[in-house]
Amino acid sequence: MSIHIFNVFTCDNRPPFKLKTGMVSALVETNDGLALIDTGPGLEDYANPHWMMRLFPLLFYAPLDPQQAAVNQVRRLGYRPEDVRHIILTHMHFDHCGGLPDFPWAKVHVHRREYEAFTGRSRRWTDAAYIRRHITAVKDWALYDTGDEKWYDFDAIRLPFEPEMWLVPLHGHTRGQCGVAVRDGDGWFFNAADAGAVYNDESPAWLIRLVLGTHDARLRRFMKEHPEVRLCNSHMFPAWFEENTL
Ligand SMILES: [Zn+2]
Repeated sequence: MSIHIFNVFTCDNRPPFKLKTGMVSALVETNDGLALIDTGPGLEDYANPHWMMRLFPLLFYAPLDPQQAAVNQVRRLGYRPEDVRHIILTHMHFDHCGGLPDFPWAKVHVHRREYEAFTGRSRRWTDAAYIRRHITAVKDWALYDTGDEKWYDFDAIRLPFEPEMWLVPLHGHTRGQCGVAVRDGDGWFFNAADAGAVYNDESPAWLIRLVLGTHDARLRRFMKEHPEVRLCNSHMFPAWFEENTL
């Protein structure tokens, strides 16, 4: 079993700020084909940018390189895009699900609350990052509700794959956002999405809470207590990608 990690969206702060980030997407070889965890923007986002893709290069240094689209990275790893049978979404902001149209045959797994937030009325400012056209090609949804299962001490929902995978509700940044945990040998890979910024010691706690919700402190504690879990957030730094990509 392997987990391939790649950067699907470079977004660096403009000077004088120094933060440089890429967006984490992971491709997992499962017992039922490849599963992609978050897609990053898709080819159509580059060819015909929606307003968020136009806004980002004004605010940040975002090269908008279609080579970063997951479909191209999957090919570069030697797979066919058709081999991606499943897409698991942490949440449905444009930088996480814009690539859905590049995999119209894939079954899309997401928390029901996130799907309802995306398809329902806008209720909070972070809903502005939902771009409706991103789901028009999806034919097959698997929607999940939180039950009474746990992964470690987090509420969690078991996904129907081997290796063992869990959807871990971390609502706040969006109404239905989840992390995704994947069994990786004796440990775990845990993408805690936009629920914290556990490697970022520069941004103030109030800002993290405002934009990402209330989970950051708990995730930092969890990371210290469980060195067997390779924890990341969705937007990570160049050095992390160097260590974690093949
Ligand atoms: Zn987001």
